[in-house]
Parts: sequence; C-alpha cells; structure tokens
Amino acid sequence: MRAVLSIGSNMEDRRALLGTVVDDFRADIVAASPIFSTPPWGVEDQDEFLNAVLLIDVPGTPLQLLRRGQALEEAAARRRIRHWGPRTLDVDIVQVVEDGKEVLSDDPVLTLPHPFAHERAFVLVPWLAADPVAVLRGRPVAEWVAGLDPADAAAIKEVGSLL
Ligand code: ATP
Ligand code: CA
Ligand code: CA
Repeated sequence: MRAVLSIGSNMEDRRALLGTVVDDFRADIVAASPIFSTPPWGVEDQDEFLNAVLLIDVPGTPLQLLRRGQALEEAAARRRIRHWGPRTLDVDIVQVVEDGKEVLSDDPVLTLPHPFAHERAFVLVPWLAADPVAVLRGRPVAEWVAGLDPADAAAIKEVGSLL
C-alpha cells in the first residue's frame, strides 16, 4: 500500500516531533519533502507550523495506518485544546493507493482522499516537492498548486531537510 502522509507541528520542539514520524516510518519511506514553515490555518492566533509530506510504502490496511499515526500523536502527548488549534503533532493520511488504485472513502473515521488536501497550500506544496508527478482527484498536484492563491503559496517557506 502506497500512502501520502501530511505531518505538522506547531508546539514544543517541532522538528524533533516531525522526526518521530520519520523514525517510525524510516523503513517505509519512498520520498520525503523538505520541511516547510507555514502560517497557521483555520485559527490564526497561534505559532507557525512546520509541515512536511512523506510518501510511504507500508504493509497493512489504511485503518491500521491511521492507528499508527494516532499512536505517534499520542506519543507526542498531543493535547487537543481546540479544533484546528495548536498541537504537538498531527499525522494526516492524504491519499492511499492500493494495487495501483486510489482508495476512496467517505467514512468520517478515515476519509480518503483527505477532504481538504486539495485546498491546503501546506499539504500541496510539500507534496509536489516530494512527488512532482503526484495526482489528486484526477488532477496533477502541480495544477492544484498553480491554482492556489499566490499569497497562500508564497507563505509556505522551505526551512530545512526532514531526513
Ligand atoms: P483536519 O481533518 O481538518 O486536518 P485535524 O487534523 O485537526 O483536522 P484531528 O482532530 O487530527 O483533525 O482528527 C479528527 C479525526 O479525523 C480523527 O479522529 C480521524 O479519525 C479522522 N480522519 C478522517 N479522515 C482522516 C484522514 N484522511 N487522516 C487522518 N485522520 C482522519
Ligand atoms: Ca490535519
Ligand atoms: Ca489529523
């Protein structure tokens, strides 16, 4: 199973927290974006996020992958203060491809592809960096990026390497 993970942190040691995801998936990583600094989304009065995207090849089911990401969030002692508010670590599954076919799900426990990925610069810009030929909802990610509000795209800044 091929999956695209979007990871983010805006609390405590953000790079180290992203690093816990890299460490856990080390054997499965196919490609990784650099780390990007991104303005907070949704709730704006909080610190900047660091975001990155990982392409992984993992055994198991999409639900097992969700649980694995949630275990990493828990290990980061993520505290849910408010929706879209600060968090130590967020691990979202953007897309899953099984046997060459994209997995589609409208289950609220695991919605695939991620319902907001196509409109979020902090997902699309790192994803394009990790995979220049990625496709989302039948459209190249490069086109989704080109269609972003230029101010949103310009606000996503590369700040270092993830691996
Ligand atoms: P957003 O979904 O807008 O990025 P969020 O990441 O802040 O918001 P969370 O509180 O981290 O939301 O997750 C809420 C629930 O979303 C989780 O319990 C999980 O079951 C569900 N969920 C549904 N689809 C996905 C997905 N593709 N990746 C990760 N979680 C998902
Ligand atoms: Ca999220
Ligand atoms: Ca999440």
